[in-house]
Amino acid sequence: AKRAGRNNLVNFESGMVESVTRRYRLEQELKQALDRGEFELHLQSQFDRDERLIGAEVLLRWRHPVRGLVSPAEFIPVAEESGQIIAIGEWVLSEACHLLHGLEHSTPPGQRVPTISVNVSPRQFRTPDFVDRVRETIEQTGIDPSHLMIEITENMLVSHASDAIARMRALAALGLAFSIDDFGTGYSSFAYLKRLPLSEIKLDKSFVDDVPGTPGDTAMVEAILAMAARLGIDVVAEGVETCEQFDYLKANDCTRFQGFCFARPVPARQWVDERLEAMEK
Ligand code: C2E
Ligand code: CA
Ligand code: CA
Ligand code: CA
Repeated sequence: AKRAGRNNLVNFESGMVESVTRRYRLEQELKQALDRGEFELHLQSQFDRDERLIGAEVLLRWRHPVRGLVSPAEFIPVAEESGQIIAIGEWVLSEACHLLHGLEHSTPPGQRVPTISVNVSPRQFRTPDFVDRVRETIEQTGIDPSHLMIEITENMLVSHASDAIARMRALAALGLAFSIDDFGTGYSSFAYLKRLPLSEIKLDKSFVDDVPGTPGDTAMVEAILAMAARLGIDVVAEGVETCEQFDYLKANDCTRFQGFCFARPVPARQWVDERLEAMEK
């Protein structure tokens, strides 16, 4: 037992050294990634109850020269902590608005322009000039801000509530919409929803995974859907993988759907091309 304990300790220490080194390297590489053009946008379609395309979420990808495609789950937390997320996030927003501008121009009159949703990290959202930067980006790209949706997480609203709410109102006044990401996983309070300029919440995948299930497991999902319906807020179910989940969520008044069951994230160019092809049919 003693030997095992010692081995564990050694492993633990070397594991720590390894992770610190790895993290340091990641940070250095992230610094260069933007300049070298290694980031790219992928888009995952979102659908309404009739399975019509209504929009897409922008998901960042890092094409690392050696490691290949790196998941944002790995590098976003590092970029968030180092502050690099601010420059990266500004790049994402600007690219997304350029893409949206193209979509607006390729959409025939009378047809709906897809809503483009962009993730904004807490650190980026809290920068003092965030509202100004968004306004500038909208002006420079010439987009209609009503086609833009910003996804923020609910914890952002709890920890810096009054500041965050003021900022949301200023952005909403520009004409863009807000979505609360990963809804239900943080310190959500139904009470604050009413006070926010919200058009949508995203039901976290961990809840979607539970349905259809036993009554105890689905209580939260049903409560969230019922509350949102009463407040007139759309709910996007994220991570919908099966038809059973889709049927269940639809029966419980969920309004929007995103997940592998419908579409996986694809490179932005491919998404645009596929949409154009579908429109020609
Ligand atoms: P998220 O905002 O919750 O994004 C949804 C994640 O679930 C995406 O992973 C997406 O590919 C994945 N997903 C979608 N449908 C399904 C499904 O049916 N099954 C499964 N198993 N997964 C599904 P991804 O692209 O790896 O992104 C991970 C997280 O990274 C995102 O979580 C978001 O928090 C963050 N992120 C991505 N892009 C950006 C960005 O541009 N800025 C910021 N700040 N964060 C980003
Ligand atoms: Ca998101
Ligand atoms: Ca999410
Ligand atoms: Ca999630």
